[in-house]
Amino acid sequence: MIGSNIEALGVLLGNSKRCAILSHINPDGDAVGSSLGFWSYLQKTHPELETKAIFPNRFPEFLAWMPLASDSLIYAENKDAVKGYVAGCNLIMCLDFNNLYRIEELGAEVKKGTATKILIDHHPQPSDEFDLVFSNTAASSTCELVYKIIVALGGRNTLTKGEAEALYVGILTDTGSFNHSVNSPEPFRIAADLMELGIDKDEIASKVFEGYSGSRLRLLGYCLSEKMQLIPEKKAAYMALSREELERFQFKAGDAEGFVNYPLSIKGIEVTAFFYESLDRTHIRVSLRSKGKEISVNELARKYFNGGGHFNAAGGKYFGSLKNCCTYFENVLKVQSW
Ligand code: 5GP
Ligand code: MN
Repeated sequence: MIGSNIEALGVLLGNSKRCAILSHINPDGDAVGSSLGFWSYLQKTHPELETKAIFPNRFPEFLAWMPLASDSLIYAENKDAVKGYVAGCNLIMCLDFNNLYRIEELGAEVKKGTATKILIDHHPQPSDEFDLVFSNTAASSTCELVYKIIVALGGRNTLTKGEAEALYVGILTDTGSFNHSVNSPEPFRIAADLMELGIDKDEIASKVFEGYSGSRLRLLGYCLSEKMQLIPEKKAAYMALSREELERFQFKAGDAEGFVNYPLSIKGIEVTAFFYESLDRTHIRVSLRSKGKEISVNELARKYFNGGGHFNAAGGKYFGSLKNCCTYFENVLKVQSW
């Protein structure tokens, strides 16, 4: 995956003048960690290459401590500046997504330009919109791939503690603290090497998982106790929250992170869904999870929810009311073979 492309990447980095590192809408730990880690590395090793990390919308507060986080550009908050910057790029690095529609409006700006587009990602079914592709679905995270690319570029000994912290965050969050998506000893080896670089893994876990508000925990309690629907005959559970309910608990971006996973801890439940009304009420945000090897939520998200993702973790959108979304999901379950 890396071997044959790394030389081409090295040449592109050496010959380009301006580069944008882009990641997906509603950026998560892997999106932010891989983008900021790679950005910091490029700034240091390629000072002649102007580089910016750009996110379609703002990342949650619990990721804001990472190096360069406050220097990154947020498209939703600064559209003209981002459009101008992207128009002048000759290199665009796309991290932790597999299709330009995952960056929404920003995708159109990328398509307008003539920049060489490089994909670094671990989602299945990457689109053919990219010129150079580093794609490995067996990788735990995009951070794992970025680490390996940096090593292959000969940059291991230049890695700073800050870059190691950023890369660790993506591995930590995308594997649910090393509990899933670890398909080889590699993520552990990389984590060990990041520890050699001085990261404090306990402090990082605390910043990422223990920075929430009291109202977020109350929302989780409410959601589990009042909203969880179990459909044991289809090995399924789902929870749905309206805007009114979210606002009652002072909902902020990132607050629902992880909610969808909880029902999977119930014996016999193998697929879960979490639905909530988007801020602008134009659609329902859909998160799907499964455990085991039988149920592909990537397939469910692609077929029924205008989305995609991984075998056991996927997401998408439903266009309609929250109530209809729940009925729709129940009907979708009825026609599944399990
Ligand atoms: P989450 O449920 O945490 O938002 O997302 C879980 C996984 O599904 C992530 O790997 C994410 O990239 C992917 N995903 C989430 N939403 C979408 C979407 O709307 N479209 C696609 N293609 N993937 C999504
Ligand atoms: Mn990822």
